[in-house]
Amino acid sequence: MKQQQVMEQAEQALYKIYNRFPVVFDHGDGVILTDADGTDYLDFGAGIAVMGLGYNYPGFNDAVKAQIDKLYHISNLFYSEPMAEAGQKLLKASGMEKVFFTNSGTEAVEGALKAAKRHAYNKKMGQDYEIIAMKHSFHGRSLGALSVTGNDHYQEPFAPLIPGIRFAVFNDLDSVKELMNEKTCAVIMETIQGEGGIHPATEEFLRGVRALCDEHDALLILDEIQCGMGRSGAMFAWQKYGVKPDVMTVAKALGNGVPIGAFLASGRAAQAMQPGDHGTTYGGNPLVCAAASRVLDIFEEDGIVEHVQKVGAYLWEKLEELMAKHDCIVAHRGCGLIQGLEFSMPAGPVVQNALTEQHLVLISAGSNVIRFVPPLVIQEKDVDEMVVRLERAVLGVV
Ligand SMILES: *Cc1c(COP(=O)(O)O)cnc(C)c1O
Repeated sequence: MKQQQVMEQAEQALYKIYNRFPVVFDHGDGVILTDADGTDYLDFGAGIAVMGLGYNYPGFNDAVKAQIDKLYHISNLFYSEPMAEAGQKLLKASGMEKVFFTNSGTEAVEGALKAAKRHAYNKKMGQDYEIIAMKHSFHGRSLGALSVTGNDHYQEPFAPLIPGIRFAVFNDLDSVKELMNEKTCAVIMETIQGEGGIHPATEEFLRGVRALCDEHDALLILDEIQCGMGRSGAMFAWQKYGVKPDVMTVAKALGNGVPIGAFLASGRAAQAMQPGDHGTTYGGNPLVCAAASRVLDIFEEDGIVEHVQKVGAYLWEKLEELMAKHDCIVAHRGCGLIQGLEFSMPAGPVVQNALTEQHLVLISAGSNVIRFVPPLVIQEKDVDEMVVRLERAVLGVV
């Protein structure tokens, strides 16, 4: 068995920070992943909401390959056409005014936090200003992003983190109101909490936080790293609420697997940072920008967002039916192709059984939730097949 050998070599070499599932994936096509021994798996995890276009999407790989042969790194000391194009397309899709490209989601969050800090500095707020974040949020693992991630388990071994962070309760407007004062320079939250168990912001909450930010001249930072890029059934989830952030972060599906993120700003936030305030060596190089540029073209040309609305509604229907049949499924949340099922038991064994026995890739979110963040290009027949396999996995562990 080839896989066993690879796993042993990897375990010997790699820092033991991840507990990986016992599968070695070798290649992918469409929504199917194939392991090193030739077994096919239906992929409903998309590499954690990254492979929006799935594997081998027509035209995508070719665009990346063409850029590799042309030029793939020059640093940010110079201009490149792919960066200019990707920037323009991202602004058009979002209605934001300025963009800075990063290598990852957590770096996009770092940039957004620095914009918030720069906003406080510009306002001469002194050094005891505050940023409000949400409990059960996830913004990444670097020290800044971890500081606004409302998860004691992730934070505790790395304290002290950056000062001035206050945690409110997501979807509880009063809890934000209580923390908001003349010291507040920003509020950061996910439009749809992902890792926290797929919790969309209510319209009342998001609009209320927007109004509070306006009242206090604080920046509203919306983290769209997981829920953005069409996954919610809108290009960016906040576009469904009739509010606009001052700063937004994106990553995950932006490069369809090529590592690229970005933070975008509008209004006064777009002017807050000055030349020399931030930097990155790789960020936004021609390779990753050619990938993002092609992704954004494909979204428009092939109607990816409209497709998500259609197939997302179908997934919703099928998961509702499944929940009605099984007492161990206690809640169903989300929209588009970011949905979650909450179980009355740990979700881990279901995920494990789905992978190893049913050859279905699923991922959990927290301990009791299975999250459905498949490639955005799945078809109704893939949903049907997924539900059959998921049901077998559930019956396999209860
Ligand atoms: C994944 C994620 C991040 C971190 O992105 P990385 O690319 O892993 O650094 C930040 N915020 C949200 C909402 C995410 O889902």
